[in-house]
Amino acid sequence: MSIKENIEGIRKDISKEIKIVAATKTRSIEEIDQTIESGIIAIGENYLQEAENKYQKLKGKVEIHCIGHLQTNKVKKAVEIFDMIQTVDSVKIAKEIDKRCKYIDKIMPALIEINSGKEANKDGIAPDHAIDLIKEISQLKNIKIKGIMTMAPYFEDPEKDRPFFKLTKQLFEKIRALNIPNTEIEILSMGMTHSYKIAIQEGANMVRIGTKIFGFRGEN
Ligand SMILES: *Cc1c(COP(=O)(O)O)cnc(C)c1O
Repeated sequence: MSIKENIEGIRKDISKEIKIVAATKTRSIEEIDQTIESGIIAIGENYLQEAENKYQKLKGKVEIHCIGHLQTNKVKKAVEIFDMIQTVDSVKIAKEIDKRCKYIDKIMPALIEINSGKEANKDGIAPDHAIDLIKEISQLKNIKIKGIMTMAPYFEDPEKDRPFFKLTKQLFEKIRALNIPNTEIEILSMGMTHSYKIAIQEGANMVRIGTKIFGFRGEN
């Protein structure tokens, strides 16, 4: 199946309101161009170096989201390349983004990454601490919180992810109801190739899909 057919296959049974972010780590410019021709308007990159290498060819053609963990010393470059950072999980990283954006007169749209499974080896803020974090980050002028994202724990059976998506959706609604100044809470980014259908059933309006668009990574 071609990239185009894969995207059409995903599109045909999800609502038009759901935004598909193509997860493009390890994928070539040619593959990414095919997604753009098939209507994809946003891609997600995990590694700054890789994103930087692709940036010259992609800028202006597609939104580029940061979906990998971001280190403080990489923020200066990151704020030039990315149109959204989905992985903000501390005041420290947010302050650095804010500072670097000020220099280039940019307001960075950001999602707060939630560690919905409270996994020790995963990035993201624990659900119980998310609201305090958002209140603090909302004070910063050059970063605009647009919602939350989560990487649910991995299970072979994606049905087991449902409780984590449910919890994240509840948190999303709670945050939205607070109407925190300088935030625009509208994006709930959750679900990947094996779990996006369940994530959407539980309220995701943005999904990040790699394998189902491009095939298995490393495969040619
Ligand atoms: C790679 C990746 C995805 C997509 O994973 P697939 O299983 O290939 O669809 C989604 N989100 C993040 C953060 C990723 O790193």
